[in-house]
Amino acid sequence: MLNSKIMNKKIWLSLAHMSGVEQKFIQEAFDTNWVVPLGPNVNAFEKSLEDYLEENKKVVALISGTSAIHLALIQLGVGFGDEVICQSFTFVATANPIIYVNASPVFVDSEKETWNMSPDFLEIAIKDRISKTGKKPKAIIPVHLYGMPANMDAILKIANKYSIPVIEDAAEALGSKYKNKKCGTFGEFACLSFNGNKIITTSGGGALVCSTTEETIKTMFYATQARDDAPHYQHSEIGYNYRMSNICAGIGRGQMTVLDYHVARRREIHSKYSDKLSKLSGISLLENPSLDYQSNHWLTCVQIDSVKVGFTQEDLRLAMDKADIETRPLWKPMHLQPVFADSPFYGDGTSEALFEKGLCLPSSPVLSENDIDRVVNVIYSLSKTV
Ligand SMILES: *Cc1c(COP(=O)(O)O)cnc(C)c1O
Repeated sequence: MLNSKIMNKKIWLSLAHMSGVEQKFIQEAFDTNWVVPLGPNVNAFEKSLEDYLEENKKVVALISGTSAIHLALIQLGVGFGDEVICQSFTFVATANPIIYVNASPVFVDSEKETWNMSPDFLEIAIKDRISKTGKKPKAIIPVHLYGMPANMDAILKIANKYSIPVIEDAAEALGSKYKNKKCGTFGEFACLSFNGNKIITTSGGGALVCSTTEETIKTMFYATQARDDAPHYQHSEIGYNYRMSNICAGIGRGQMTVLDYHVARRREIHSKYSDKLSKLSGISLLENPSLDYQSNHWLTCVQIDSVKVGFTQEDLRLAMDKADIETRPLWKPMHLQPVFADSPFYGDGTSEALFEKGLCLPSSPVLSENDIDRVVNVIYSLSKTV
């Protein structure tokens, strides 16, 4: 009885996993009374992210990945009347900050290889916006969705051609590499997220990766209410309360000790799914398109060809749910979201098709071999009953 209960415990999509040393850093914060935003844990967490990312990048820890994108847009001078090009196939947190600064998003479709921003449609969009509005978009936001690096060479080439800065959304891609360089180091700015289900967590949090010390200073300034250099409280600009707390950064420091393990485990889980599902035609995984791409495989995603397998992605989601296994549809593209119904979109239906046929499988580092088999068995049993 007890055994069968353990065997059939719920399998979650993506769970946090602690190293055990997180509590030591939190305890230190309490012992030294650093229970505030800023502090030694924040400094050490930022330093360890800088060492990890390399490329001489500077990191500012913030309350979320969303706030990181917001502060990047502010520093690029994006405001009322401006347009920002954004990958359509993403989580809404990529696009919302464009609205926070009173600018307008222009959505660009995905390419089939990476599921990320299509360089072809990016250039078509830039040209068309210039001809329609008489000015260039102010920024480009590609995303490394599900940890898969975007086609950065092609995207940066176009960005450079038109001199438009890139904000890289690397929220899901800490540990991923493109051409042997870490995701989060390609843009003028990049955002990271440490939300509960990301590669590492600080319970909630994020960071802005900056290219210069000047940007770092500006980011900290805006993240702490834009206080001028004066003994009293004086403000010449609008600021925000976005700085990460010393307690959350303590969790982050502990998580840095298991980051490599998390990436290795998620890749291993992906490759196990890949092996076990290879015999089933009609189910395909998001795989690295070439050796240039090294996804962290944050979530293993499948595409379901219902004509070949005889069931749809929704049939599979419901069957998993019955078996007490959490799966999730892929992100619904932004150009299909009611809140962005009036925004321009450039594409050919690629992300919409991905959304309609895709599903994310459980991918936590804590997944056991038995858990993976349970997931795979649901897929096989469904393919036999139809
Ligand atoms: C999680 C996520 C974000 C935002 O991160 P938060 O820390 O939740 O604000 C941004 N973009 C993508 C693609 C994400 O998955």
